[in-house]
Amino acid sequence: MDIIKEDSENILNTYNRFKVVLESGNKEILKDINGKEYIDFSSGIGTNVFGACDEKWVEAVCNQAHTLQHTSNLYYSIPQVKLAKLLIEKTNMKKVFFSNSGAESNEGAIKAARKYSFDKYGLGRSEIITLEGSFHGRTIATLSATGQDVFHQYFFPFVGDFKYAKVNDIEGLKSLINEHTCAIMIETVQGEGGVNALDPEFIKFIDKICKEKDLVFIVDEVQTGNGRTGYLYSYMEYDVHPNIVTTAKGLAGGLPFGAILFDDKLQHTLSYGMHATTFGGNPICAAAAYSVLSRIDDKLLDHVKECRKIIDEELKNDKNVIKTTGKGLMVGVELKEGIKASDVVNRCIEKGLIPLTAKNRIRLLPPLNISFDNLKKGLKILKEALEG
Ligand SMILES: *Cc1c(COP(=O)(O)O)cnc(C)c1O
Repeated sequence: MDIIKEDSENILNTYNRFKVVLESGNKEILKDINGKEYIDFSSGIGTNVFGACDEKWVEAVCNQAHTLQHTSNLYYSIPQVKLAKLLIEKTNMKKVFFSNSGAESNEGAIKAARKYSFDKYGLGRSEIITLEGSFHGRTIATLSATGQDVFHQYFFPFVGDFKYAKVNDIEGLKSLINEHTCAIMIETVQGEGGVNALDPEFIKFIDKICKEKDLVFIVDEVQTGNGRTGYLYSYMEYDVHPNIVTTAKGLAGGLPFGAILFDDKLQHTLSYGMHATTFGGNPICAAAAYSVLSRIDDKLLDHVKECRKIIDEELKNDKNVIKTTGKGLMVGVELKEGIKASDVVNRCIEKGLIPLTAKNRIRLLPPLNISFDNLKKGLKILKEALEG
């Protein structure tokens, strides 16, 4: 079967796929249908935290598949409770709601923020401030939250009461806050927007103003979370206390899963009947997430930081690179004028490396436990590909 031809004939053409059919993998090495091997610097867009088919992860998934694959949320679930306890213990948040994706987690966060404000202040206090260049998902509400004009097309009307502040502009942000504001939502490192880490002062200011004005501080950790930046959740690098943390991508190590964490201020906002999902909290995904989360320890986080040092060292003096951006193993590579990121990715794939892009940057999201050896091999390929 010609997979590429059959794909374009049968699957809605919403993706501009690279011409590779990935078939199998082992840790950070992926193999296509022709037997060609690739070093994986993408982790399935930051999901395969421990790479492909990691043994412990496979065991957790298979054990649960052999036990019970789904119950719905009408009944209590052992994998959910185990995971919830671990998440609460590791974050000091108060409650968790399980979803299936990043967009769904953010959708739930938006609902909770508005409900919190409505309960306390009544109608008319529903504005949510997000940032220019942000990305929060593909549902109508999360597209509305996304601060990029390219996403605000075709599907009108979008959800109202979203405002977009300039990144790192404290005065600009202040000028958007008024009696109608109910929440501020950020990514500490904007992923899809180009791998831009926010200034620590800006993050701390948002934390402070949210406390002062009783706004809901939402941190979207869909991409930054689960060890990606060298911290369990990226906000933990700063002395800040979000009211809601959303996550997904890496949480279940490559299965569709998400979580919304609520602090003491928000823990009672959504109650019986106000939010639900059929698949959210699915036992197989929850067991996978428990396995992943219990292995994101200081040793792994140190490894992430060590890897980052190597990446910066290798790319710092490359004549085709202006700078590296982002945090930990969420890396942006800013290219010299005239170099197209998608051309570089095509050349990488040719040479056996799978990176990502974000805007016109190369984006690297390798598995968090990638070996130093394969990391260096991959960087060598990337540098060759940058040469043209
Ligand atoms: C990927 C991403 C989302 C959307 O997640 P999906 O699982 O694709 O719905 C939302 N926010 C951020 C920061 C992301 O990187």
